[in-house]
Amino acid sequence: MIKKRKRGNLIVISGPSGSGKGTICNELVKRNSNLWISISCTTRNMRTGDKEGITYYFLTKEEFETKINNNEFLEYAKYNENYYGTLKSKIEEKLDKGNDVILEIEVQGALKIKNILPDTIFIFIMPPSMKELKNRLENRHTETEDKILSRFKIAYKEINEYSKYNYVVVNDNLSDAVNKVESIITSTNCRVDRIEELDLDTIEEVLHESLVDMN
Ligand code: 5GP
Repeated sequence: MIKKRKRGNLIVISGPSGSGKGTICNELVKRNSNLWISISCTTRNMRTGDKEGITYYFLTKEEFETKINNNEFLEYAKYNENYYGTLKSKIEEKLDKGNDVILEIEVQGALKIKNILPDTIFIFIMPPSMKELKNRLENRHTETEDKILSRFKIAYKEINEYSKYNYVVVNDNLSDAVNKVESIITSTNCRVDRIEELDLDTIEEVLHESLVDMN
C-alpha cells in the first residue's frame, strides 16, 4: 500500500496573540498522537497557568543570550521586549522519528524558518475581528493594560503578513478551526512528494483483477 515517508512534517502556526492558536494546537495534539508541539525558550515572566518545561523553558536574558551564542536556536525573535526561541535539539530528533512537529511561533520567527526550511507548512490563524481580538486579550486577565495594548499593536503588524503563509484559518469557531487545521495536516501527508513508496505489486494486482473483470 501507500507508505508515508519516514520523516515528519514541520508545521509553523502563527497568529496574533489572542487568535486562539495555542488552544487549536492543544486540541490537535489530543486528536493526533503523531503530532508534537515544540517547547520554546522565553525570557518573559511566567503567567498564571504557565508551567516550566511544559508551556516554555523560562530563561533569564543572560541564559537566553548564551544559547544564542552557542547556536542552539533554529530561530529566535524579540516580541514585546522579550526573547522567544525554538531549540534545534529536539526538532530534528522528532522529525527523524516520523512525528509531525508544530512550531507555534510569531511572524518574524516564521519568516526566518521560511528562509532556512522552505518545505515547511505555514498556517496563519486569523481572529474573526479586531474587536473580538481585543476582547479576548482583555478577558484573559493575564497581563497589564500596557502589555495588552502593545500585543494589540503587534497584532496589526502580524495580520499584514498573512499572505506569506500557505494557509489562513479564521478562528471564529474553535472546533471548525481545529478541523480545518487538521485537514491541512492530513492533506499534506497525502501529497505525492511526502510519500515514501507505493507498493507496485498491489497496484498491478488491482489492474490485473480489473482486466480479468472486463474480459
Ligand atoms: P506568549 O507570550 O503569548 O506566550 O507568546 C508571544 C508570542 O511569541 C506568540 O505569538 C507565540 O506564538 C510566540 N512564540 C512562542 N514561542 C516562540 C518561539 O520559539 N519563537 C518565536 N519566534 N516566537 C515564539
